[in-house]
Amino acid sequence: MIFAGAALDRAPLERKRPEWLAAQRADTRARAILMSERGIWIDGGRLLLAPPTDGALLLGLADGAPLFADDVSGAEPAEGHPAGLREAATELPAEEVALAGYAGSLLAWHRRHRFCANCGAQTEPRDGGHERRCPACDAHHFPRTDPVVIVLVTDGEDRLLLGRQARWPEGRFSLLAGYVEPGETLEEAVRREVLEESGVVLEDVSYLASQPWPFPSSLMLGFSARAAGGVAPAPGDGELAEVRWFDREEVERAARGEGELALAPRYAIARRLIDAWLAGA
Ligand SMILES: [Zn+2]
Repeated sequence: MIFAGAALDRAPLERKRPEWLAAQRADTRARAILMSERGIWIDGGRLLLAPPTDGALLLGLADGAPLFADDVSGAEPAEGHPAGLREAATELPAEEVALAGYAGSLLAWHRRHRFCANCGAQTEPRDGGHERRCPACDAHHFPRTDPVVIVLVTDGEDRLLLGRQARWPEGRFSLLAGYVEPGETLEEAVRREVLEESGVVLEDVSYLASQPWPFPSSLMLGFSARAAGGVAPAPGDGELAEVRWFDREEVERAARGEGELALAPRYAIARRLIDAWLAGA
């Protein structure tokens, strides 16, 4: 699964000790992943790494060596090139895509949370970047992750429910998905989203897999479910322009890159779940 599986020790306990953090920064093996407003920096199909600056955030330890993330918007490197994370997902080895996603999400959160949401004072990074603390009111702010449920809905006739958002090109369809709301269980969010977007009532909702989705900080939670039947799908809340059943043969052709239907790119969990369904898993 792309954006997942970074072989990294996040050093959750050690990073709370300022003297340990200082030693990591000073370590001659320390390297930083570089990100600017134009994207993550890549060179020759690999992440471009450089010694960390004082403001770099600690991602963790990779084979014992400290790995940081650095915002280089003010001083971009002379070598390599910036890439969006979607582009990086197809250029980098899977392991480095996961690190790029982690670095991108963490840096984006720090960039957008420089001020306390409680009192408005300027906040300071703590624990190597896994927290920001407000010196005025002592509020603790933690990097947010936004849970999104995504659902593989099938029916009794071996068909798959897919929707097309209005801003997507003609023919592009994917699994139904949406943010989890306050006070909901994941299963409730699955049922609500699919009902809202298609009018379809679900049964047998079960969890399948998850994938970090760093745009900027979502966590995709993949579920399968079966339609209760009796209702023809129709766009409900205005998010989808089209929603309908596709038979297995139609989806199979799309997976081979044939026909009118276009599926999500291979690095997306939507595509992984669809491919698993096609394979009979
Ligand atoms: Zn505050």
